[in-house]
Amino acid sequence: MKPFSESELKNTFQKNFHLLEFLDACLKKNQLANAYILNGESSLEEKQDIALEINKVLNCRHNTQKPLSEMQAACNECDSCRWLINKEHPKTPLILEREETSKTIKVAAVQKLQEQLSQSSPYFRVIIIPEADFQVFSKHPANALLKSIEEPHPRTLFLLFSRSKYNVLGTIKSRCQILNIVPEHEENINEASEKTSKILEIYEKYHTHHDDFSLQIKNKLFIEEIAKFSKEELIDYFDYQINKIQVSKISISFIESLEEAKLKLNSYVNPKAVLNSIEFFR
Ligand SMILES: [Zn+2]
Repeated sequence: MKPFSESELKNTFQKNFHLLEFLDACLKKNQLANAYILNGESSLEEKQDIALEINKVLNCRHNTQKPLSEMQAACNECDSCRWLINKEHPKTPLILEREETSKTIKVAAVQKLQEQLSQSSPYFRVIIIPEADFQVFSKHPANALLKSIEEPHPRTLFLLFSRSKYNVLGTIKSRCQILNIVPEHEENINEASEKTSKILEIYEKYHTHHDDFSLQIKNKLFIEEIAKFSKEELIDYFDYQINKIQVSKISISFIESLEEAKLKLNSYVNPKAVLNSIEFFR
């Protein structure tokens, strides 16, 4: 039985089920990252649900001390699973968060976490940072945590929640893998804005008509025309496509190339050059 993506979970996670399938593939290859950013506008609860599934699998009594590649689905019945479901597990997850009266996470909180991590534990410890955006998890506490993320204690996993991965400090982000979470309950999340609709129309115009042109020429004409849109409008269009792809879980490489294109646009690379660099449009 697959550890994360057994069929029962398909109903619970619907749009995000492919993330669990991805984690299955990671385990199978013994390649769980040290740290993941659960990124996206979805609710804290939705991210916690995914974190809970990960924690249950890693700590289920049936998986204790097993190599990652041999882990099974969580049983939901052993004491560890039940503790996690009831939020009363004594050792995991460890939560790194700001105090209620403070806007940011304090360096002292990071040090306290590191102290806890330095003690040995029979459990696989999952560390959750519910607000990893730089407005809350700022430079000093983030720097204090870098080494722990980079060279983690054995059997620890960091899960950082962000609303937008562009709000996570680069030093942290470069040490994490990013999992994009799609909101489960929000409707119309992928409704195209007026300008995005316009770009989609232009795409249609060249790609469904003009049968006499080669794909290369169609793309060239398409790029020629949409390069006139503003940087923000292009990013909006990319985001629309990225969300659409995630919902239908087509191609990770296309998502990555669009994310890269967004970064280039943000660093003021000429829009036409950016559009030409997207393999899909070539
Ligand atoms: Zn269990």
